[in-house]
Amino acid sequence: MTDIKSREVRLASHPHGMPTAANFTMARTQLKPPGDHEVLVRNLFMSVDPYMRGRMNEGKSYAPPFALGQPLDGGAVGEVMESRAEGFQPGDVVTSNYGWREYFVASPEALHHVSREIRPLSVYLGVLGMTGMTAWVGLNLADVKAGDVVFISGAAGAVGNVAGQLAKQRGCRVIGSAGSIEKVRYLREECGFDGAFDYKTAPLIEQLELEAPDGIDVYFDNVGGEALEAALAAMRKNGRIITCGSISGYNDEKPRPGPSNLSNMIAKRLTMKGFIVRDWLDRLPVFEMEVGGYFKSGLLKNRETVAQGIENAVGAFIGLFHGQNIGKMVVSLVSAGAPA
Ligand code: NDP
Repeated sequence: MTDIKSREVRLASHPHGMPTAANFTMARTQLKPPGDHEVLVRNLFMSVDPYMRGRMNEGKSYAPPFALGQPLDGGAVGEVMESRAEGFQPGDVVTSNYGWREYFVASPEALHHVSREIRPLSVYLGVLGMTGMTAWVGLNLADVKAGDVVFISGAAGAVGNVAGQLAKQRGCRVIGSAGSIEKVRYLREECGFDGAFDYKTAPLIEQLELEAPDGIDVYFDNVGGEALEAALAAMRKNGRIITCGSISGYNDEKPRPGPSNLSNMIAKRLTMKGFIVRDWLDRLPVFEMEVGGYFKSGLLKNRETVAQGIENAVGAFIGLFHGQNIGKMVVSLVSAGAPA
């Protein structure tokens, strides 16, 4: 198997504001066969994530910027097609950071074995992957425990829904905000949230007060902006804010002013903690055991929105900023109906 042509998505120009299809190009490359200690992998699913937006800008983000004319990268789950490396056999399923392309050749250090038995395999990009781990790390950093009232913004997305389900496992009262009635229903009926509201239909601060009239102990922030301001107002004394993401500002061309009510930090003795999941990768085995256990026993539900084909990957990515996903947004690179 030596004549492999692979399509890949490249960054054509830096987006200004909301990205458009014109910022990307599709290229076809001819892959070299794997050399000694190398593995050829066919991607089955790839991830699109909001953090990639920062990497599309010129200059620094918290991850290395994407280079113009070069393929993008990101989480992917694939199947080994050919191996010249010890410990890898055709048919093995691996995760990698070689997303946004159909095939790739890599050395074993860039690959992580996962079980083929768990289905769908795309779960390794969501609940059992980077976004699930982000939810788990965030809750641990804020020492979320039974009895806490926890508010989560972006709650119906990949990180948010897992954070809420895990907080429920810990015995918390969980409230989520999301951008549609369908998402609110999903949070209440499928994820077991105690309260949920559509932040687009009425002022967030008023809806949060209705759901948590006695205030909140923990705010899991995926969104920033208005949601952070509402949470600061609703926090109880000694409350904790987990600063996970700030998607409401990712496409702003100029930074917005910060929350007008930050002085709540002082009066209420609040703690605000930011984190990047990749700093916690040494905890991956613990995460896989604990959260994998919840998933296998049915205590943690997996929901995803699946775009079909690499030609729809850019649309799926842009869709994140229009709220087009419930649960994790993934792109399937396997033809519909073909075995993965
Ligand atoms: P999601 O699956 O939540 O997808 C993005 C969602 O954000 C959309 O569905 C939409 O939902 C919401 N959204 C989009 N634009 C806006 C806006 N302007 N205002 C409010 N909500 C908006 O993504 P992830 O779960 O992957 O990521 C969630 C957050 O966590 C992001 O901020 C991301 O950057 C961050 N993150 C941080 C990590 C870390 O290590 N710190 C790691 C991974 C993610 P809706 O319909 O509800 O508006």
